[in-house]
Amino acid sequence: MIQKHNSAPPTRSDYIVDIRQGVLSFCRLLQGPPGLMPAVFLDRDGVVNRHIPGEYVTRWAEFKILPGVPTALQRLRRAGFRLLIVSNQAAVPKGFLKRDELIRITDISLRKFRDAGADVDGAFFCLHHPNEDCSCRKPKPGLLRVAADCFPTDFSKSFLIGDSIGDILAGAAMACRTIYLAAKPDASVPATHQARSLSEAVRWIISDQTPDSDEPRYKRSTRSQ
Ligand SMILES: [Mg+2]
Ligand SMILES: [Zn+2]
Repeated sequence: MIQKHNSAPPTRSDYIVDIRQGVLSFCRLLQGPPGLMPAVFLDRDGVVNRHIPGEYVTRWAEFKILPGVPTALQRLRRAGFRLLIVSNQAAVPKGFLKRDELIRITDISLRKFRDAGADVDGAFFCLHHPNEDCSCRKPKPGLLRVAADCFPTDFSKSFLIGDSIGDILAGAAMACRTIYLAAKPDASVPATHQARSLSEAVRWIISDQTPDSDEPRYKRSTRSQ
């Protein structure tokens, strides 16, 4: 059991781990410069690791980092963004995933990213059951607020990247620009932009929305491949 208030906070690698009001948080000890900073909020499953619809990641062996993700995260850091993972993990209250296993998976994955030069600043997980009607389960924006309490965020310069409409709505509620990741564009999703992968989304963020000359832009190219 992890308790923060009445004892020294436990540290896992470079992070303070805390559970408060149903939110599991990993906050990097080295927080960088103080003050408001732009951030990229990242959904986890389907954005940084492979997501199989209807299935949960319940152990580390099932956590498959998607191609190009460490490099994409590294590019965002170098461009001055904080990296904040925000993820609903209803598998915990539903009994498919032990909370300590989620902590272990997160610990290992954050270390892998750090070793690849792509330090993630924080990871925040809603552990509520969908029936609980909490304020942090996306599409509600509470998880982004909790993250911003830990890492003061200039939302007007920030982005959210997710592969579900709930992610996009949570980002939009905080007035972030949003990028929807999907194999095919979906005009019904109210995202600022759409892309096929984190790498492609990051290219768009860093190019400051200037079209690349050597690659077809996702929104213009609707050809299936
Ligand atoms: Mg997802
Ligand atoms: Zn919640």
